[in-house]
Amino acid sequence: MDQDKVLHDSLKKYFGFDAFRPLQEEIIRSVLSGGDCLVVMPTGSGKSICYQLPAVVSKGTFIVVSPLIALMKDQVESLKANGIAAGFVNSSLEYHEEKTVMTDLQSGRLKLLYLSPEKLLSRSMHHQLKSLKISGFAIDEAHCISVWGHDFREEYSKLDFVKKQWPAVPVIALTATADKVTRHDIVKQLGLKNARIFLSSFNRPNLSLRVATGQRVYQQVKSIIDRYKGQSGIVYCLSRKTCEEVAAKLTLDGHNAAHYHAGMDRNERTKVQEDFIRDNVPVIVATIAFGMGIDKSNIRFVVHYNMPKNIEGYYQEIGRGGRDGLSCETVMFYSYRDVMVLRGFAEESGQKEIQLAKLRRMQQYAEASVCRRRILLTYFGEDLKEDCGNCDVCKNPPSVFDATITVQKALSALKRLKENVGMGTLIDVLRGSQKGYLFEKGYHEIKTFGAGRDLNYTEWQHYLLQMLHHGFIEIAYDRHHVLRITEAGNEVLFKNRKVRFVRPTEKGDKTLYLKPERKKTKKQILEESLFEMLCELRKMIADSKGVPPYVIFSDATLHEMAEERPFTADDMLLISGVGDHKLKEYGQVFIDHIIDFLVDSGVTGAQVKGISYLKTYKLLRERLTIPEIAKRRKIHDVTVYSHLAWLYEKNMIPSVEKWISNEEITKVQNAVAVTGSTQELKPIFERLDGKMHYGKIRLALSCLKNKNQLLP
Ligand code: ADP
Ligand code: ZN
Repeated sequence: MDQDKVLHDSLKKYFGFDAFRPLQEEIIRSVLSGGDCLVVMPTGSGKSICYQLPAVVSKGTFIVVSPLIALMKDQVESLKANGIAAGFVNSSLEYHEEKTVMTDLQSGRLKLLYLSPEKLLSRSMHHQLKSLKISGFAIDEAHCISVWGHDFREEYSKLDFVKKQWPAVPVIALTATADKVTRHDIVKQLGLKNARIFLSSFNRPNLSLRVATGQRVYQQVKSIIDRYKGQSGIVYCLSRKTCEEVAAKLTLDGHNAAHYHAGMDRNERTKVQEDFIRDNVPVIVATIAFGMGIDKSNIRFVVHYNMPKNIEGYYQEIGRGGRDGLSCETVMFYSYRDVMVLRGFAEESGQKEIQLAKLRRMQQYAEASVCRRRILLTYFGEDLKEDCGNCDVCKNPPSVFDATITVQKALSALKRLKENVGMGTLIDVLRGSQKGYLFEKGYHEIKTFGAGRDLNYTEWQHYLLQMLHHGFIEIAYDRHHVLRITEAGNEVLFKNRKVRFVRPTEKGDKTLYLKPERKKTKKQILEESLFEMLCELRKMIADSKGVPPYVIFSDATLHEMAEERPFTADDMLLISGVGDHKLKEYGQVFIDHIIDFLVDSGVTGAQVKGISYLKTYKLLRERLTIPEIAKRRKIHDVTVYSHLAWLYEKNMIPSVEKWISNEEITKVQNAVAVTGSTQELKPIFERLDGKMHYGKIRLALSCLKNKNQLLP
């Protein structure tokens, strides 16, 4: 069979997904062909499948090295829930637990084995692995190997061991954060050979972005949480004290919220994390200490009660939302007070200059009037071709104009100043200022001196900031903060790339931006309450198995179920996230609950096609007989038979022998052979001398049809 089909079939069979996300397929092919690679993709983009799928389709065991031992158990549970043999070994295991895993490992049964770096490097493990077929190594959180990354770990520095010991086994290194320097360092430190680097966009279009001013913040936050009715979210605060106060207030106001910060003892913190992951406590009010190593895909809102201290941190924090691909609302509150406090911290820190510069960028983001996503992606060196449409600026656009000439003037002046001046000097040159230092340096002689006289100083400031946000210029932090022209800037200057800018306005209050609450349709209400019911069912199953709810099904999967309302196994398998194993394990329970819900909520045939059959189905499951059902539903028993036939044809009931014998089916088969019609029941009825119930005839026809024993 060709590899294309094998990969797609396995994706559906084991993970329940119908299509690969960007880069996944390419990466998987690369691993399967035996090559080394480095994968840099944001959190939630689906890195795990890039090694889990190769592991499943290859012979042998795939080794996954991860420093986050708290996550291993849940990851292994998720794999098991998909019917994939997996195990983990780290310091958290009891001796006998470790022994069980090792036995499984030796039997060659395990498709994936998760290990902490220490375990991998231990002599005994090395010895074990040497005797087995290893299909590949995944190094998760690979940035930890580099001192250039933001989370260097000593125990990672010895992982070049892998390539030395298993030179022919493919290694896939994965991380969500690595700049260029770190990327090359990872490849070098691990000793990867001809490694391909897969770099995906950092854009997360499902996160909506909004900045609001810091007035009556608590009220605003509360009203956000109100809108999410028990769904999960994080509120980040600057100080431990604020965390505790806000969580307490929310609790008083009837919300189920807890606080989390580094000042709490270890057990308390673990408990809060667990409660959050298992959907026991939906809202966590936390300092930035919260979130690292939390694998929860259904976070629906991330609020910053205070402005974060830099864009990296901010993006990482909001990035924890919406990992299931569904929308996540992010709101950042911004006040001048926050800026002052953060400035104080920066002044005291070891890297005052850099911290202050980063804080300024954060503040500029908060005050900007161009697409916020553009600013963020520009910051990470990406160029967004179109405004995003999912941030407060895009949704509430300020007036724009063609600013190509203005930008060209500024860039050309900057070029002539050899990209060696700061913003103030550039503006002075553009405006043809008469200040002495310009003449001393000879700046008055350059060609563009005074070319921007038509605009005043503040206007230029405004436009240069927009140029920064659009990524036409950047600040060289390493060279006294002079301005540099970027690749995109050169496109404007030399290739006439068009630019649209916002006209400066009196700064109005853009804060009261809320989605207008549209009135919900009946269909939406039904879908929402069905979704809530499915969440409860999921939680019940998860609790009984002692696993987090997302291990059973993701929110995205439950939403699709609520929308599609599958009644049959075939329909259920079409839902994204339902693979073979989960269909077998949970399919029927979910189908039955969906049907019961629809019947109990009293929907009509116009709302849900086939609801009448479903009503009968429900009563059958309650063990009512055909006459009882007919009586209860005030319908004819022939109708009940026709429902049975419909349900049987859809494979919703496994057999009908309770209601019709093989002998009777044969009689009908013989009659059909004579009458030739399978549509009209009357000729068959007469052919059988009026001795067989119309309902049974109908049922017999279904049996024959299902067994393909019917004449056309
Ligand atoms: P990462 O490791 O990059 O943070 P994960 O591997 O945890 O991301 O995946 C994030 C979410 O996306 C998970 O819920 C996962 O099941 C889902 N996912 C991954 N690949 C696909 C796909 N091809 N189609 C649909 N959902 C996917
Ligand atoms: Zn936008």
